[in-house]
Amino acid sequence: MNPAFDGNRAYDHLKALAQEIGPRAAGSAEERRAAEYVLDRLSEAGLNARIDEFPVTIHEQIRTELTALTAEPYRINAAAQQFAADTPEEGIEGELVFVETAHPQYLDDRFRGKIWLILEGLPMAYYSMAMAMEPKAIIAVEEQMGVLPKRTHLRRPYRDRFGSVPTVRISFEDGMKIIKNGVERVRICTQGRETPARSVNVVGEIGGGKEHTEIVVVCAHLDSVRHVAGAGDNASGASILIELARIFAQSGSKRTIRFIAFGAEEIGLRGSRHYAAGLWEDDRTARKNPGFNEVLDRTQLLRHSLCINMDMHGVILGTNIATAMGPPDLVSSVRILSSEIGPAFGSIKEDIFSSDGMCLAAVGVPGIAFARVGGSSVVTHSRGDTIEFLDAPHLKMMGRFIEVFLRRYVAEAFVFPFQREIPQGLREEIRRYFNRTADPFPPALPAQAQA
Ligand SMILES: [Zn+2]
Repeated sequence: MNPAFDGNRAYDHLKALAQEIGPRAAGSAEERRAAEYVLDRLSEAGLNARIDEFPVTIHEQIRTELTALTAEPYRINAAAQQFAADTPEEGIEGELVFVETAHPQYLDDRFRGKIWLILEGLPMAYYSMAMAMEPKAIIAVEEQMGVLPKRTHLRRPYRDRFGSVPTVRISFEDGMKIIKNGVERVRICTQGRETPARSVNVVGEIGGGKEHTEIVVVCAHLDSVRHVAGAGDNASGASILIELARIFAQSGSKRTIRFIAFGAEEIGLRGSRHYAAGLWEDDRTARKNPGFNEVLDRTQLLRHSLCINMDMHGVILGTNIATAMGPPDLVSSVRILSSEIGPAFGSIKEDIFSSDGMCLAAVGVPGIAFARVGGSSVVTHSRGDTIEFLDAPHLKMMGRFIEVFLRRYVAEAFVFPFQREIPQGLREEIRRYFNRTADPFPPALPAQAQA
């Protein structure tokens, strides 16, 4: 008799990560504690688990102030964008202008040198053109009502290439008040500190006989956005991961199941990037050997057959979704299994899914991402992402589904059912996704190495 997914156990892990440890920003002591918590649970379950460290650059905000300079000046709750420029210590003052859209067609000299108020912030596609207008600062307004300002970060390659200006986010309500009150001038003061730090992945595995060389990765990121408890995003996924590891450590698997809790997902998929880069470099080295044979010399990378990612789970009121970056059979398998054992899925489709599975897909490992999203997803990346929207039965709902999926198609399958392929269209999408971040992955080969 196989052990079954226990929603209450998963919920205990959720509480430990999101409440007892709380915010788990990349490179922080709390992220490290969360990693040790996962490591201890995996080791207790009998997995051979370890911690894998890697360097990151982190940004800590020291001061963020936004003041509307009306007859009676008032303070507005704001969250600074990490890695964006600081103001001088005394702050900056300037004329406020509402930017309807940052589309270059509409950016004229009216906007030059002013403080921009813009719904949802600057789209990356317009970033370089917008910086050419030299805004003094940017105030991004949440697009949705009832949400605290989200904690976002500027992609460092954009900043390094095009420069940056002090940027803060405020709620929709505060944004509307600024316009209704006819606020013409504001003062902004932001000070941050950038430091090198270490983040960690936790890696533990089970199963896999000698003749079965496939490795299936089951992963979830354990870090959160800075200052955010990250219950839904993604203590929930990490909790399901721990419970799945316990189950499969007991029941075993014909194939290797490698459980990975990735660090630093929220600052640019750094943990999965580190892991996938390791596989990719090792594979490239092996291919330099003149006797290399793709069929016989199965590198670690080639042994990676599938990646199952879990990011955002357990919401009480929500919708289950599955997003596949792999062969059509992946989509079919979820559809059929959902029909047979439930639960219902709001969406099962082939598409990219912006989480750790992307880095593995970028080096050729097909993936499927499971999530449960919904109304409360609007709190994601804000201080509102707390445990109150989540419960044990809804952790179990998808935990149980992924358990059966793993048991049938990985742990006990007669042969491994999924081709190791990613359709051409998706490969293009993945490439574009990483190019948009201005931080392509895998990194482009030097010219002479491509020959
Ligand atoms: Zn996430």
